[in-house]
Amino acid sequence: MAKEICVICGKETPYDFETHIDYRIGYVEGVGQLCGKCSRHDDSNSTITISKDMVKKYPNDMELGEKVRIIYYNSL
Ligand SMILES: [Zn+2]
Repeated sequence: MAKEICVICGKETPYDFETHIDYRIGYVEGVGQLCGKCSRHDDSNSTITISKDMVKKYPNDMELGEKVRIIYYNSL
């Protein structure tokens, strides 16, 4: 059975053409299938969490933003 090709790097993915997109990982609607490696590099849908305490602790938006950014870079 033919396998889907990664739309970014062109490598074969583990998914058959027949596999429904609900049962796949790394399928981007309107774009296509990504391989495991490329889908991990796409963090557009991933999230980071900050504690509510942090919002209260840093009343200055710049300061809070800086802390959020540090958490973001540490999560990569
Ligand atoms: Zn790829």
